Amino acid sequence: ASTWAEVPMGPADPILGLTEMYNKDTDPRKVSLGVGAYRGEDGKPWVLPSVRAAEKKILEDGVNKEYLGISGLPSFVDLSLRFGYGDNSAPLKEGRIAGVQTLSGTGACRLVGEFFNRFGISAQNAIYMPNPTWGNHIPIFRDAGMEVKQYTYFDRDIVGVNVEGMIKDMKDAPDGSAFLLHACAHNPTGSDPTMDQWREISDVMKTKKHVPFFDCAYQGFASGDAEKDAGAIRLFVDEGHQVLLGQSFAKNFGLYGERVGALSVVCADKDEAARVESQLKLLIRPMYSNPPANGARIVQTILSDPALEKQWREECKSMADRIIRMRDLLKSNLEKEGSSRDWSHVTDQIGMFCYSGITEDQVLEMREKHHVYMTKDGRISMAGVTKENVSYLAAALHEVTK
Ligand code: PMP
Repeated sequence: ASTWAEVPMGPADPILGLTEMYNKDTDPRKVSLGVGAYRGEDGKPWVLPSVRAAEKKILEDGVNKEYLGISGLPSFVDLSLRFGYGDNSAPLKEGRIAGVQTLSGTGACRLVGEFFNRFGISAQNAIYMPNPTWGNHIPIFRDAGMEVKQYTYFDRDIVGVNVEGMIKDMKDAPDGSAFLLHACAHNPTGSDPTMDQWREISDVMKTKKHVPFFDCAYQGFASGDAEKDAGAIRLFVDEGHQVLLGQSFAKNFGLYGERVGALSVVCADKDEAARVESQLKLLIRPMYSNPPANGARIVQTILSDPALEKQWREECKSMADRIIRMRDLLKSNLEKEGSSRDWSHVTDQIGMFCYSGITEDQVLEMREKHHVYMTKDGRISMAGVTKENVSYLAAALHEVTK
């Protein structure tokens, strides 16, 4: 028998598997609303002109193809931290943030998991994540050897964040537990706490000595303003939390396949930051040795050039604005169809996704009858909605929810 005869077939990835199904569908009306990747008004992927300009500059500079260091491109890491924590961040100015380049946001999450696991940083070696959360969070932290627990987050009845439930779960968790927080544009619900609520959450976490890990995959992409989207992170840092921050440049810079991100840890002083960074490097080296260079160079080129950075901010805002416009159009089209349901959450939610509130059966009906592809939980990637397909989508949604 073959050596691998006993290896069973694994299930298709719940999100990427959808794209495969969509690709096989031959109906011309088909709509892909699964994976969270931005599409322009023409429904096609969009490379930001600021990214193209940076690529041109890199090419002209004749940069070589040598390895980066284990922790990546230092000038990229510095700029990434400034981008996340802000120009006026005290720990940044004091040089007490350990930071490394990662394989996008996923790589940052995995590295945090490995770091927590190796140093027993969280009570019971568990990490608490919101219910629901991005599907990949659970296997990422499990595969890193941690126990995954959930905290109350979304309330389907109020179609919003259940902050009381969240705070209760934080109080009930053992002191010194690690909590994964979505920095902005919570995936999949599109619902974030308000700044006042974040302040309450910060207070409870401080009393309980919990460890906040911010997963920040949508800075700038959520509201169109990268400073505003970093509000929760900066509040926690100002309140004295030793946060960990995972950054992804996939959505906000449109660098999905370049795999560029960063992980940073706010430390007590410079010496501690150096020790933490040395341990992150010891985790990285045997996993993948060092990260890819191109995406980091692109982000570094943009964020180190005021004119390019300004251009990028405008382009990033244009993506956020298009999504906000599509939310308005989807809602008004549903009303035009005569839907009696309350669709106000479509416009209340922010970021890439609309947590539509439709059931799994309705999702399947959307797929089988209408050729509209979304995840089983009813999450719609708003980036896939265009002026061309929005009325078809609204009619189909109305049809399955009547
Ligand atoms: N965290 C969250 C909450 C996300 O939604 C995503 C992207 N879907 C990621 C992390 C990581 O994405 P990437 O690895 O492509 O940066």
